[in-house]
Amino acid sequence: MATDRELVEVLGEFARTMVTDFPIQAILDRLVQRIVEIMPISAAGVTLISDGVLPRYVAASDPSALCFEQLQTELGEGPCLLAYETGEAVAVPDLAADTLFAAFRDRALADGLAAVWTFPLRQGDERLGALDLYRQSPGPLDADAMEAAQTLADVTAAYLVNAQDRADLEDSSAALQHRSLHDPLTGLPNRTMLLERLEHVLRSSDRSTTMVAVVYVDLDRFKEVNDDHGHGVGDDLLVEVATRMTALLRPGDTLARMSGDEFVVACENLDEEGQAGMIADRIVTALAAPFALGDVEVTISASAGIAFAGPGRNLQPERVLHDADVAMYQAKRKGGHRSQTIDLRARQDEQDRHGLATDLAGAVRRDELRLDYQPIVSTVDGHIVGAEALLRWDHATRGVVPPAVVVPLAEGSGIMADIGRWVLETACLDLTRWNHLPAAADLNVFVNVSALQLTDLRFVPTVASVLERTVADPRRLVLEITEAILLHDSKHAATVLSELKGLGIRIALDDFGTGHSPLTYLRAFPVDIVKIDQSFVANFLEEPSSRAIVTKVIELAHLLDITIVAEGVETADQHTALATLRSEYCQGFYFARPMAAATLEALLRDRDGRSLRLPIG
Ligand code: C2E
Ligand code: MG
Ligand code: MG
Repeated sequence: MATDRELVEVLGEFARTMVTDFPIQAILDRLVQRIVEIMPISAAGVTLISDGVLPRYVAASDPSALCFEQLQTELGEGPCLLAYETGEAVAVPDLAADTLFAAFRDRALADGLAAVWTFPLRQGDERLGALDLYRQSPGPLDADAMEAAQTLADVTAAYLVNAQDRADLEDSSAALQHRSLHDPLTGLPNRTMLLERLEHVLRSSDRSTTMVAVVYVDLDRFKEVNDDHGHGVGDDLLVEVATRMTALLRPGDTLARMSGDEFVVACENLDEEGQAGMIADRIVTALAAPFALGDVEVTISASAGIAFAGPGRNLQPERVLHDADVAMYQAKRKGGHRSQTIDLRARQDEQDRHGLATDLAGAVRRDELRLDYQPIVSTVDGHIVGAEALLRWDHATRGVVPPAVVVPLAEGSGIMADIGRWVLETACLDLTRWNHLPAAADLNVFVNVSALQLTDLRFVPTVASVLERTVADPRRLVLEITEAILLHDSKHAATVLSELKGLGIRIALDDFGTGHSPLTYLRAFPVDIVKIDQSFVANFLEEPSSRAIVTKVIELAHLLDITIVAEGVETADQHTALATLRSEYCQGFYFARPMAAATLEALLRDRDGRSLRLPIG
């Protein structure tokens, strides 16, 4: 008989199966194989049934079980079908004495079957099929065994629904993804895909020495073509333009349609600026030749603007695109039908950033950095359970510079490790101080760690020494990391995370859902907390796909003993919905905005102030 431990083991195995991309058939195969191992039966089978269709999936622990499964389908009669139809378990402890399924009984008895039990696979009101247990000797199953089998059937049903959802989701998301990244008229990549491509190229060109050029092409007087010949001809022209430009590309170049009559070529791996000029001139020349479109011939011209990016230059895709666009307008102002290079702005920018970076280098010394804290509350009663430290830089002339600017700047100028250390040390000192407040003894402090910090070999020793000097309790410290690090350097990340956990610290995965990491990562890395990104929370009440994702992530996290923090909670409705989904914690403007350390401390001192909202319900 299945001991509780064995049952727990099988259930655990199923939990792990679900997070990998296990196909439906494999889930069923695993179920029948394991159930025979732990139950006093000789074989097991399962059939998935949908109304009016032949069974789509069947699994069996051995050939005899397969034969009994098929027999029931063939006869349209048997305990399996009854369990499916009624949603109740069916027990036939002595098949020879059975009167309900005469046709099945006779044939099965002849094949050596003596007893059969079947359990419906059900999910809510829906039924998916049934699990059948077979034995070659008659006699009852005790109540515990019956219960264990039904539990397994229920769990299997839950995973099947999940696997089916996943299959549906994959089908639709592939189509959706293609649609969202391509221009329907020409089939070329669209603006979104171009930006993604540039982002990737610029990140990798960071490590090599070659540069990237962006050529922005706009047709001159395209509107006249539409006005004179109609939109049909205008569309045909755009398709022909795309074809001509495609013929001029080198391997590795990307051509995209931005909008209307605007196209962009991203050229990678250039050795010198002159090459981009040549490509642009070739495009301008090629587009000046007449186009034969059905019965009409159209002659147009084009203007091209060029901007560069790469090591020591601009590294932001949007910026480069903008610069190339500006250059294109300069070409147009000069009469069109020409190309024009821009670089001055990019250089100016570089100098600007250099100035800010120099200022930042002295910011710690000048005491210009500070941390704001945003409370994290228990979803059920609004009680403050933690606070996220958020970096602020009070610049002497520019005012408060947000972390979205500070962090990339610090990373670009090689001082992120120093700033990160300052953040950690300050947060730990605050944590130690608050620990002495009676009402805040269990408060957790969340500190953001950038990908660059985490990959620095000195990171773990730094954390250890900060903990030691500040005498902060590591069990109250949570480090927030982003998915990017797991995707790009997963082996190193896994090691660093285990070392951090060795120090007693907990790990939260920040902005979860934005980095496209597979859900399996939740299992692969030692993550304690998942912070669901605010972009999902912002629209999950209206958008079914966001809601599906949030629901799935929460379900899965709970299965893996991971705690959820929902970020960016701004409304009471979002709060209520998150409570229903059993998200343990919430963070967002609805509860509190980021505040000065002293303000949070005052809140903590006041026991009554610790609950930011009334209990739900
Ligand atoms: P994050 O870790 O996701 O932090 C939450 C951000 O969302 C904060 O922006 C916070 O002010 C904002 N926020 C919180 N609740 C709401 C809400 O209800 N609605 C909306 N619209 N926004 C909300 P902030 O302070 O500008 O920080 C931006 C990002 O900068 C952080 O995102 C984090 O990734 C990074 N960051 C902040 N401090 C540090 C730091 O010390 N080190 C590192 N490496 N990154 C940091
Ligand atoms: Mg964060
Ligand atoms: Mg976040």
